[in-house]
Amino acid sequence: MITMELGLNDKVALVTAASKGLGRGAALALAREGARVAICARDPDTLAATVVALGGEAFGIAADVTEPDAPRRLVDETIERFGRLDVLVANAGGPPRTRALDVEDDAMAAALNANLQTSIRLALAAIPSMRQAGWGRICFITSNAVKQPIPELAYSNVARTGLWAWAKTAAQDLIDDGITVNLVCPGLHATDRVKELDVAGRLGDPEDFGRVVAFLCSEPAGFVSGAALQVDGAGTLGLL
Ligand code: NAP
Repeated sequence: MITMELGLNDKVALVTAASKGLGRGAALALAREGARVAICARDPDTLAATVVALGGEAFGIAADVTEPDAPRRLVDETIERFGRLDVLVANAGGPPRTRALDVEDDAMAAALNANLQTSIRLALAAIPSMRQAGWGRICFITSNAVKQPIPELAYSNVARTGLWAWAKTAAQDLIDDGITVNLVCPGLHATDRVKELDVAGRLGDPEDFGRVVAFLCSEPAGFVSGAALQVDGAGTLGLL
């Protein structure tokens, strides 16, 4: 039998926006690999239910990750509980649908805060602990809009490609510290958010998506950095 040891047993992971959907899938996969997992979300009831599903030493922090102070607090509470932070999976809710010519200042600022600056704040808060350990994995949950802008998702297109640019440059600065920085770029998955849209065609399974995240956060993926990996069932057509 061919097996692959992911080396995640006893690693400490923080997964934000993870009581449902893709974040939950990532948290479940990491927990099943033996990681000690902290998650956050705003609604405390859904959060508590997911903590139970994660089992083990998992714990939840009720927080709106887009509040400017939340990233620092989430990282600090995770380190306080588990002593260090090895894996950061940064996720947040998606921005509203809008075409490029209809964007508005306030909504653009909110999208840039939620889907660009929040992720950077989380990474900056997590990096010192990872540097100290000489090992770290940072994985941003984004969208396949990074590879092929989606006409009705103008805010998402702008915020997520900005994050891709930051991640690519941060990855170069961190590779000698044993820290990788990658994007995972989902296409349509069967989460609550997408089920409400009643879209046709094949949808990805959030738990399978989570396993891809776990691989990117694993020991053997230590030389995969600065990558933006599509998980979209061939949903994008570009060659790059
Ligand atoms: P989802 O099923 O609606 O789940 C979102 C999760 O994030 C929930 O646990 C929610 O809990 C939490 N959350 C949302 N906003 C938060 C905030 N400000 N602070 C803390 N937690 C927050 O969404 P999803 O489909 O998994 O999507 C996750 C991300 O992937 C989004 O950015 C989305 O745009 C992107 N994406 C999804 C797909 C897809 O097909 N599903 C495709 C491409 C990109 P609370 O509401 O309780 O906070």
